[in-house]
Amino acid sequence: MDFQIPSETKELLGRIREVMERQVYPLELEFVKQGKSFSAMIPRFKQTRESIKAAGLWAPQVPKELGGMGLEFCDHALVSEELGRSPLGHYLFGAQAPDAGNLEILHKYGTEEQKDRYLKPLARGEIRSCFSMTEPDRAGSNPTWLDTTAVKDGGDYVINGRKWFTTAAHGAEFAIVMAVTNPEAPPYARASMIIVPTETKGFVHVRRIPVMGDEGDDYASHSELAYENCRVPQANLLGQEGGGFMIAQERLGPGRIHHCMRWIGICERAFDIMCQRAATRLIAPGKPLGTRQTVQEWIADSRAEINAARLMVLHAAWKIDKEGLYEAREEISCVKFFVAGALQRVLDRAVQTLGALGMTDDTPLAMLFRHERAARIYDGPDEVHKSVVARRILKGYGIQTG
Ligand SMILES: Cc1cc2nc3c(=O)[nH]c(=O)nc-3n(C[C@H](O)[C@H](O)[C@H](O)COP(=O)(O)OP(=O)(O)OC[C@H]3O[C@@H](n4cnc5c(N)ncnc54)[C@H](O)[C@@H]3O)c2cc1C
Repeated sequence: MDFQIPSETKELLGRIREVMERQVYPLELEFVKQGKSFSAMIPRFKQTRESIKAAGLWAPQVPKELGGMGLEFCDHALVSEELGRSPLGHYLFGAQAPDAGNLEILHKYGTEEQKDRYLKPLARGEIRSCFSMTEPDRAGSNPTWLDTTAVKDGGDYVINGRKWFTTAAHGAEFAIVMAVTNPEAPPYARASMIIVPTETKGFVHVRRIPVMGDEGDDYASHSELAYENCRVPQANLLGQEGGGFMIAQERLGPGRIHHCMRWIGICERAFDIMCQRAATRLIAPGKPLGTRQTVQEWIADSRAEINAARLMVLHAAWKIDKEGLYEAREEISCVKFFVAGALQRVLDRAVQTLGALGMTDDTPLAMLFRHERAARIYDGPDEVHKSVVARRILKGYGIQTG
């Protein structure tokens, strides 16, 4: 067992940290503290992205032939933590969800034509995309049960249905839509992924959904969409017909590792802010907040939970690398709910430590607290992952649990 981070990776993380401090945090201050909209910031974001490209730090997870850094999975996990320290980190370095996941599946399953039209400009950061699976009228935690259909007509698919919480649909160039193409097939073989350019007639952007008081815009938003006789060529099918769930599983496994490491980055940032405040806020002359035992306990609990979370995620990433997604599915589910819970607890302690200041947008804490509550819901709610883990364990004890 070797806990040493290779010196090359350390050097890379140091370079990224330097860019985060010099270029990303100042932009974050404008975005969060001054409450500017995402779209108003885009020209500034573009400049920063260009300079990150020039520094050779663009798209850490993307293969080199597509203009990325082509990092190994475990190295990218560590980079993801570093970028997670700011809500803008992944976006500015070209590693943001849902584009990162869409890139992966387009790279693996896309036809040459799909790669030219969608994958290459996406990898260069010239366009954005979204992933449209969850529906308002169907439980997202049972993704095999979808209402949206794609019916063949001539050389086209005609798509009908409603979707919501399609992150970053506003301003996206295309959506990857999950729709039922084979209703008579077994549940896991019913749906397919289909690429739909957002300019297609019948692709209706209904609204940006206000989430925790903020409807956001452009990349930083979640949309409700309607597909109304939305017609695309059958050549827009991604992978095999009926293969949607298989591709979704491949997309979600590594995606959960990236999310978890991003959340650990958020934890570290919140921890830093909490400790700085504990060390400097005087509650009586000469007595900083950090002299109180309760605050010390929050600091110690947070340190232990973050360390545990990181080790669990890196172990899951290592297992995916060595044994594959299928063998690692228990570890993936464990980290998904454990890290999301740790994130929520660490953010809550940090807000509490800052008192009223923690409720303001003078620090990134309040924004992170609002936005990251969703971590326990998206990519599978806590309860679903816990059930996956417990069912697998109990199987070893001879119990079938449904
Ligand atoms: C911020 C955010 C971004 C998102 N981005 C996207 C996106 O880009 N694309 C996309 O397609 N979707 C996206 N989603 C949707 C997300 O994947 C779903 O919200 C998630 O799968 C849960 O589905 P649901 O909301 O329909 O909850 P439901 O399935 O209705 O479940 C509600 C609650 O019931 C409980 N529950 C559910 N199943 C079980 C069970 N088996 N046992 C015990 N309890 C259970 C859980 O507590 C769960 O939270 C996003 C959601 C959020 C909040």
